[in-house]
Amino acid sequence: MKVGIPRTLFYYAYSPFILSFLEELGVEVVVSEQTSKEIIDEGVEDAVSDACVPIKLFHGHVKNLFKKADLILVPRLVSVNKEATFCPKFLGLPDMLENSIPDFNNMLEIRVDTKGKKRELFKICLKTAKILGKGFLKAWKACNIALKSYEEYCQRMQEGALLPLGIESQDKNKDIKLGVVGYPYILYDSYLSLDIIKKLISLGCYVITPEMLPERVKKEESLNIKKLLFWTFSNNVLRASYHFINNRNVDGIIHVTAFGCGPDFIVDKLLELECKEKNIPFLTVTLDEHTGQEGVNTRLEAFVDMIKIKKARKEAAVS
Ligand code: SF4
Repeated sequence: MKVGIPRTLFYYAYSPFILSFLEELGVEVVVSEQTSKEIIDEGVEDAVSDACVPIKLFHGHVKNLFKKADLILVPRLVSVNKEATFCPKFLGLPDMLENSIPDFNNMLEIRVDTKGKKRELFKICLKTAKILGKGFLKAWKACNIALKSYEEYCQRMQEGALLPLGIESQDKNKDIKLGVVGYPYILYDSYLSLDIIKKLISLGCYVITPEMLPERVKKEESLNIKKLLFWTFSNNVLRASYHFINNRNVDGIIHVTAFGCGPDFIVDKLLELECKEKNIPFLTVTLDEHTGQEGVNTRLEAFVDMIKIKKARKEAAVS
């Protein structure tokens, strides 16, 4: 039995847990290839035309697994805490795939609605293990080991690594610190994000993403946000951005968003207004399947240059 994992959406947030759980169960796992033009084109062919690019991409990654896996994981992500749900497209993902991709009949649909309770997580693990022919004890052990793997991953990220991009550490003594915020499946997919993070590092910036901040720090920021949103990943972006803005510990913020993303219409406007009020340089980079590398590079270079000039003027005024 080979279980296929599409390398997008939930993958960039929860793969340390999922891969570790399945491997501990003794199930063979195959992950779809890195995003490429072919995978995007395959996704665009079947997805509804007004879907955001990450959803189109998910279709492509599922098709990439067709001849490689016996079952393909398509979770219905509902909640992992009490305050919010995932974006409606995550909630309806299995239905969307079932109706868009002809002959997709080996879907492993798992509903995830834990509301932050460990007991609920274990029930989901047990249900998944049963489908894959494994028993209670194996599921219990695999769930605990997977939780540990996930905690270790979060810890490494908070120490400055950007593991999904293969970056083990960053030089913290760079002159320019940038908060680069967005959903993990956009930020950490090198092809989709046009490698924005690596480009900024090569321009001499230290990059901080929402996943590099401890949960405790982000939770504390809730007090400064007038109203939290209804969606888990959006709240994560908002909290991290408000932390950067209120503590003034970055020189600028870049919001990386997908064309056609409903929640980001609100997130982006809130961030733009807040940064304007607090006089923090802010840039929105909107990506879709047609966005070109050169145009994005030029905007990033201009933004970094503008920050350098601003900093130099400030230092000159002080001295
Ligand atoms: S949050 Fe936005 S980018 Fe993510 S799946 Fe929903 S609509 Fe698409």
